[in-house]
Amino acid sequence: MLKKLHTPTVLVTVLFFGLFISISSGYLLYNIEGRKITREFHKEIDENVASLHKEIVVNFEALRSLAILFSDSNPPDWNHFSLEAKSILSRHNGIQALEWIPLVMHAQRGTYESKPLLNLPKFEIIARKKQGNMVRSPIKEEYFPVYFVEPYIGNELAYGFDLASNTTRYQTLISARNSGLPTATGSITLVQERGNQKGFLAFIPIYKVRGLSTEERRKKNLLGFVLGVFKIGDIYHNSIKHKVIKNIQITLLDETQPLDKKTLYKTPNQGVELNNEIIYKKSLPLLWGRQWSIAASPSKAFITNRRNVLPLAVFISFLVFTMYIALYINFISKRATAVQKVVLAQNQEINEANKKLKLLSRSDGLTGIANRRYMDEFFEHEWRLALRNQTSISFIIIDIDFFKLYNDNYGHPQGDDCLKRVAKQLQSNLHRPRDLVARYGGEEFSLILPQTTSPIEIAENCRASIEKMNIPHEFSKNAQVITVSIGICAVIPKINTSSRLLIETADKALYLAKENGRNKVEELSIGARIPSP
Ligand code: GH3
Ligand code: MG
Ligand code: MG
Repeated sequence: MLKKLHTPTVLVTVLFFGLFISISSGYLLYNIEGRKITREFHKEIDENVASLHKEIVVNFEALRSLAILFSDSNPPDWNHFSLEAKSILSRHNGIQALEWIPLVMHAQRGTYESKPLLNLPKFEIIARKKQGNMVRSPIKEEYFPVYFVEPYIGNELAYGFDLASNTTRYQTLISARNSGLPTATGSITLVQERGNQKGFLAFIPIYKVRGLSTEERRKKNLLGFVLGVFKIGDIYHNSIKHKVIKNIQITLLDETQPLDKKTLYKTPNQGVELNNEIIYKKSLPLLWGRQWSIAASPSKAFITNRRNVLPLAVFISFLVFTMYIALYINFISKRATAVQKVVLAQNQEINEANKKLKLLSRSDGLTGIANRRYMDEFFEHEWRLALRNQTSISFIIIDIDFFKLYNDNYGHPQGDDCLKRVAKQLQSNLHRPRDLVARYGGEEFSLILPQTTSPIEIAENCRASIEKMNIPHEFSKNAQVITVSIGICAVIPKINTSSRLLIETADKALYLAKENGRNKVEELSIGARIPSP
């Protein structure tokens, strides 16, 4: 069966499909796992975005609660402000400072600068020079100085700082004033910052009256701003409850800023290699005029740590299974070949034995020529052929003369030897493949010659050649050597002619040869009478 299918083809097919299934199933599982990891990663970032948003909202709400103080007809003094601010700050460590920024018209500057504020140093409206150091603010129409600041310690540099002297801050507070809405700046470096943490400011405009509907009226009625100074890094870390998000690089972006100022905060890269192919970006809801988003990319370790061995195990299992099947097929095929070889060898042996048996069953044990049984078979077959084809068939009987005497005098073994030599000689006189010489019985031989026109010539040759062998037979009564007498009968068989008659006639002819003195060849036709001697 396997031989028919051609083993190498079967093996190649099995290996090909096995390899294909191994690779595709491993790859499929690897992909499914990859998608699962990506989903987990997205989920983690989505949660991150949600908690950051919540944290910012909570911080902004804290600022709103402070702003409520100023909407009262009785604006708070420093003590009152400080008290409230302290309580907020104790709960929100992402806030660097809470401030009150009054609108100071130039005419009021003197009053502001002369009024002592508790036990703080003298209040003075200041601005930052281009070189970076703080100086007394030049004369302007209006100022937006930091007037109340909580805590003072750590924010001394901001105290008296005119926010209008800085473009970013000024633009934001003007936008807040005009819109009447709380507004935040983009990322800025805080004047009081000593590390490299970025911050941003959020302004809530405060007006003399509430519900002003036009920009013009808001401009006219502005009292100042409640300002929160926020530290981005701290807010972010509060949002994730200070847990370390391992193996993910998170960048906080302000999409409302130009490209070079977009980055608000970046988690420190813990020296890990990032997989920059997977960058997931998720926006926060719009907050106080700012569109923030988080861009995150996992490290290679983030992905490899989450991968398990299943795809590889499946791949290897299929591969091993394929190899096993291939080896098994190979084994079966080899075994089948071996069995086939054995069977073939056995068949050959049997065939040879059969041939030998057949030959043995057909040949005469002493002389090696065809035996009587085979001769009968052969004769019947040739007879039918001759009858069908209407061709001639000749039967010749050869009998050794005075062979009894030979045996009696030279001994039986020598007699046997003589029989062998005569048989061999007769055989050598026949040249056509269809001619047969057989041992007819005892010291008699027969020749069957199909389609032979002159059997008498062959018979004569046989007789002469045996005489010529010069096998001494001094006890023969007609010669000093072994001679034979031969009877012939040839016929083209007719439908009613019996094959036995041919043999009987040949036998009669032999009898005639014996009668006529032996060492003779005589031919008789079927139906002929034996002439009397
Ligand atoms: P004839 O000339 O009339 O044929 O006389 P003959 O002696 O040949 O004839 P007969 O039939 O009287 O004797 C045949 C002898 O052939 C008898 C037997 O001893 C011998 N003979 C027959 N078969 C064998 C054999 O297988 N081996 C040997 N050695 N002798 C055999
Ligand atoms: Mg005889
Ligand atoms: Mg004889």
